[in-house]
Amino acid sequence: MTALCKEQLLLAQLQRVKSAYQSFIKLNYEHRAEDCATCPTRGVCCTDAHFVNVQITRLEAVAMRETLERTPRLTDAERRAVYARARLAVERYGLRASGDTFAQTYACPLYDTQAGCLVHRRAKPAPCIQQACYEDWPDLPPANLQTRTEHRVEQLNREAYGAAWAWLPTPLWLTLVDPEADGAELERLARVWSTRRK
Ligand code: SF4
Ligand code: SF4
Repeated sequence: MTALCKEQLLLAQLQRVKSAYQSFIKLNYEHRAEDCATCPTRGVCCTDAHFVNVQITRLEAVAMRETLERTPRLTDAERRAVYARARLAVERYGLRASGDTFAQTYACPLYDTQAGCLVHRRAKPAPCIQQACYEDWPDLPPANLQTRTEHRVEQLNREAYGAAWAWLPTPLWLTLVDPEADGAELERLARVWSTRRK
């Protein structure tokens, strides 16, 4: 099997994991959360640069790229605008692949003021699936649901890339898998990650 075929297979598995998790949260918890459709500050949970610190993996970034490619409602210019916003976020918020990456916050480039999250159906990160506004603490989905999904996501990344991946802020990953990038920075980081985990 070629590396590309293997990646496609694992992308399909990733999507199944995420879909099952998303359906479970929707069915069992979301009805107790505030309705995003009537939220007076809709999208602030995705665009508040003091708050958003979602990190994703390499396989999830590829899933996002494929979702953006296949979304018929996006024109080529709108698609490119997502990568431009990602690049801007990396510069503006100083996002890096080293240091305490969880401490880095940003406004998410995947949020569209009309459509909402551009990867909502097919490539949403686990913390975003788990996140909603709940009035009462006991209504929140337990954190171990997210942890379990993230462990599975890590396993799939190991199967796809060995040690050549890491958890990084979403905008940074989008710049690394941008179809118009030359791939040199991703290759460089992949070499660093591979060495570090030997
Ligand atoms: S998650 Fe909360 S802040 Fe975000 S759109 Fe929904 S209700 Fe509004
Ligand atoms: S990936 Fe989607 S849900 Fe998550 S922060 Fe970005 S726009 Fe919001």
